[in-house]
Amino acid sequence: MDKITSLCKRRGFVFQSSEIYGGLGSCWDYGPLGIALKKNITEAWWRDMITAREDMVGLDAAILMHPRVWEASGHVAGFTDPLVDCKKCKHRFRADQLTEPTCPDCGGELTEARNFNLMFKTFMGPVEDTASVVYMRPETAQGIFVNFQNVLNASRLKIPFGIGQIGKSFRNEITPGNFLFRTREFEQMEIEFFVKPGEDEKWHQYWKETRFNWYLKYGLTASRLRLREHGSDELAHYAKGCADVEYEFPFGWSELEGIANRSDFDLKQHSEFSGKDLSYFNEETRERFIPYVIEPSAGVGRPLLAFLVDAYDEDTAEGEERVVLRLDPRLAPIKAAIFPLLRKAGHPEKALAIRDMLKEHFAVTYDQAGSIGRRYRRQDEIGTPFGITVDHDTLKDDTVTVRERDSMQQIRMPVDRLIDELRARLSVGRAAVVA
Ligand code: ATP
Repeated sequence: MDKITSLCKRRGFVFQSSEIYGGLGSCWDYGPLGIALKKNITEAWWRDMITAREDMVGLDAAILMHPRVWEASGHVAGFTDPLVDCKKCKHRFRADQLTEPTCPDCGGELTEARNFNLMFKTFMGPVEDTASVVYMRPETAQGIFVNFQNVLNASRLKIPFGIGQIGKSFRNEITPGNFLFRTREFEQMEIEFFVKPGEDEKWHQYWKETRFNWYLKYGLTASRLRLREHGSDELAHYAKGCADVEYEFPFGWSELEGIANRSDFDLKQHSEFSGKDLSYFNEETRERFIPYVIEPSAGVGRPLLAFLVDAYDEDTAEGEERVVLRLDPRLAPIKAAIFPLLRKAGHPEKALAIRDMLKEHFAVTYDQAGSIGRRYRRQDEIGTPFGITVDHDTLKDDTVTVRERDSMQQIRMPVDRLIDELRARLSVGRAAVVA
């Protein structure tokens, strides 16, 4: 992990929030490469889960919602973690994460557990009283449930269908940590998939497989990925079943995404609290029912960290040690780097012209500093799949050398074929590029 965190800072993937003021606990800023990687992940999710499907639509609900939403959802009463303090060193822990009855840091005596609500509160309007309390949403899901009828009325969707959303969520975590894994402000990619009661188990199975395979598709190593079914003691009272997609991080197996069968709990609760009928009427069978909901709920930071950890590798290239991020080409922040072999003899001008041609289509960069080997290393370390070098022959026959990051194979290619070749090689997974 230390290698990943230092690479992230050094190369501009992730910085600590407000670092010049000493940082703010467990809040992180995505730098130029981090935001590019994050966008590629969220766009891949949106494309695969929404755009490419006829049974899914998108939504972008506000972060601040009516306070009654969180009463109906159960968050005001029940979104709590049991908090204990060490009487000696004053460190805080989540009681449910401790294996011993004493402080894991100093062995001191612990206080009784107190329930601590994880929702951040703020005030709406100029008066800071209880009547103006609003919450920063702890999940994006409720924005989908309260818009269920709006989406249904505005579209011609029929059950089964789903609504997907990507957005920020906030949790006042007691024990944040492990870099991006547990933060107080984070992004989620959530789907609420509405089905007919009785068909819920079939769809739950479908979404478990679909979501598990999505992580494989973008290159996570199969042996470090598992689907873990929740035991009955872990299930929320309304959930019929839940499974987590887990990844084996350097700090152990941990959740990337939860896929729950939430029964008809949410729509029923919101019907009751709002007084609005949130049932669904099937025109063909003349049946009316409250749909069951299957919820694949992923973070963005956790998958991003898993993609980075999984891609990180060290090997030897041309007799030198190198760090290489073997990121899936579709996720890589920069797709190709263009290098002039020399800083004279017309090479930079030609390389810049190629950069300008490619930048219309892909995220590319230009680099003329240092030896060609050093320039390859710099790009390997941030996962750039292709290096394109302009040399003496380029000026004679308009061909360039294209070097692939993982195999380090080099091929000669006419400049006018670059766009098509890169497009083909960048649209497939890592294994296919290397093969
Ligand atoms: P955990 O048990 O690890 O606290 P959770 O079961 O509370 O997670 P969910 O409520 O199921 O998490 O949230 C769905 C997803 O949102 C998680 O799988 C995770 O990817 C992401 N997520 C939740 N909390 C955080 C957090 N504090 N920091 C980063 N991502 C988070």
